[in-house]
Amino acid sequence: MQPGYFPANLLFGVILLAAVAFFLVTVHKLYRLLRLGQPEDRFDQIGRRVRGVATFVLGQRRVVREPAGWGHFFIFWGFIIITVGSVETFGAGLYHGFAYWQVLGKPLTAALYLLQDLLCAGVVAALGVSLYRRFLIKPERLRFCDQHAANLDAGVIIGLILLLIVLLFGARAVEYRLAVAQPGRYFPQSAFISVALSGWFAGLPQADLEGWYSFFWWAHTLVILGFLVYIPFSKHLHILGAIPNVFCRSFHPLGELSKLDLEDESVETYGVARIEEFTWKQLLDLYACTECGRCSENCPAHLTGKPLSPKETIHHLKRHLLSQGQLLLAQGEAKEMPLVGEVCLPDEIWSCTTCGNCMEHCPVFIEHIPKFVDLRRNLVLMESSFPPEVQTVLRNWETNSNPWGLAFATRGDWAQGLQVPTLAETPQVEFLYYVGCAGSFDARGQKVAAAMVQLLNHAGVSFGILGAEEKCCGETARRIGNEYLFQAMATELAETINGYGIKKIITTCPHGYNCLKNEYPQFGGQWEVYHHTEFLHRLLQEGRLTPWRPLDKKLTFHDSCYLGRYNGLYKEPRELLKAIPSLRLLEMERHRQKSFCCGAGGGRMWMEETLGTQKINEARTDQALALEPELIAVSCPFCAIMLEDGLKAREQEAAVQVCDLAELLVQALETGE
Ligand code: SF4
Ligand code: SF4
Repeated sequence: MQPGYFPANLLFGVILLAAVAFFLVTVHKLYRLLRLGQPEDRFDQIGRRVRGVATFVLGQRRVVREPAGWGHFFIFWGFIIITVGSVETFGAGLYHGFAYWQVLGKPLTAALYLLQDLLCAGVVAALGVSLYRRFLIKPERLRFCDQHAANLDAGVIIGLILLLIVLLFGARAVEYRLAVAQPGRYFPQSAFISVALSGWFAGLPQADLEGWYSFFWWAHTLVILGFLVYIPFSKHLHILGAIPNVFCRSFHPLGELSKLDLEDESVETYGVARIEEFTWKQLLDLYACTECGRCSENCPAHLTGKPLSPKETIHHLKRHLLSQGQLLLAQGEAKEMPLVGEVCLPDEIWSCTTCGNCMEHCPVFIEHIPKFVDLRRNLVLMESSFPPEVQTVLRNWETNSNPWGLAFATRGDWAQGLQVPTLAETPQVEFLYYVGCAGSFDARGQKVAAAMVQLLNHAGVSFGILGAEEKCCGETARRIGNEYLFQAMATELAETINGYGIKKIITTCPHGYNCLKNEYPQFGGQWEVYHHTEFLHRLLQEGRLTPWRPLDKKLTFHDSCYLGRYNGLYKEPRELLKAIPSLRLLEMERHRQKSFCCGAGGGRMWMEETLGTQKINEARTDQALALEPELIAVSCPFCAIMLEDGLKAREQEAAVQVCDLAELLVQALETGE
């Protein structure tokens, strides 16, 4: 934007300085609040982090996964391009006569002006859609605890951006008229929208044009500076938080929780009770939230009416940080305010199934689950506060190393009569089949374990089990928050496995798989770990398993959260199913990355589900039944239990069968019956 006439360059300089100073002071306060958090290193692999920003911020990869995200894409890029244009505006305000074309040359300026016009038009369209969605369609995911304040904030922001664009086009239209009238001035014809709009100002005398120009320039500039001042106080704080948050995202596997140092005697408290006990990165998450609601839109707890909406949890924590953190900064010590009870409800924390849907869909990589687990850790380890049913299951793990509390010495009994060597008998085997608690003790899980043994023997795999020496992997104890119990279990199991010199492990439970693969390296477990779907897929590809018996059934597959979202195994189970002749696979609406939890994860399997409008397993069963399948295939013993319960609740257990993939393969093999 090239100014022709400014009444007060000095005045503009003062206003600009004041606005920028105010903005920087506010940002500095936000930075000091972050520094209240605990230390954490998120500055390794700088190149990968920069690439992540390019992909997920500039490319908006996660945002455009769904059609509504394209609106944000245009608003984001329009905003950037308006900012680039503002540099010229500000430059001209400070130095009379400054214009891009004098610095960049006319061809580049023409291209830039064309891009600005196009993107500004795109932004206007996107904002129109945004207004329509928010105020007329009112999608569920934009609902908020304080809807009025959220709408007001969104309305102000959308209104400001629209005003900015209107003023920008106004100034440019007049500028074109001035350039036509004054030789020596330049305005590129490529800005065809501005040129078209200039018709409104045709025929005005030069003095009027200068007056209009001055009006547009000042109004545009003041709105930009107002926006700058307003951003940190609005939901658009994410403009400041999102880029660093994406840059600092975790490179650990989604399924790896942090290890608490339980040996350090100087540590007085475990987990998180107060806001400053989160790490600085966990606090940065709070600034980055765009309040888009993608997390809650996919949260099984929220969708079944539990008192948990991850979007609102993040929002409440942010509000608490901004208020309580200010007190901490001002007085050094604020009123003791435990997060659980004051900021989050205990039922909110315990409702999470750790399914990972929130983290999978969050466009700015907010890490919800570690926060829930940190809060649980404090409740369990410091307050002994948890749902009463958890008490029983923790005792069962402590005494018998399984959640049912069945005698630990009977752990290998399921294998009696099957061709399964124990490692004690044949320690030189290639693979350990880690059966897990469900395969060892639950009647349903034992059938899957037996099918797996049949398949491994059929393919000639060298394997053995630990039998009575096997112990629970502790995964669920960790997610419930009992890190102390988990570490004791993990240390013992890792020592047993390493004692046999095992390097490769197969599991039939995605929870054990994730834990052994992603968390046991913290305890000296450096093994190749395979989930049975992955391993059977490999055997299929190697021609060691050839399903031939047709299974003329209509089937849908339920993705386990810990297999799919946590470990990316979507293709393998589907290819196994497709290898079975005549089997017809139908996909549920929520499948793969969007799969809906069965309700068992995060220890929820062992807690009563009394809250909400519906049980999560019944909601998932309904989604499957909508396809009228004859079979529901699963790859997790806990999903099998939950879905079978769901079928019973719908009185469909006779019509629809839940089968593990291993069971289906056995049926389809020449040895199968
Ligand atoms: S992990 Fe799953 S249940 Fe927990 S908050 Fe996220 S989406 Fe909801
Ligand atoms: S946490 Fe992520 S997905 Fe949820 S509202 Fe915030 S930005 Fe959106």
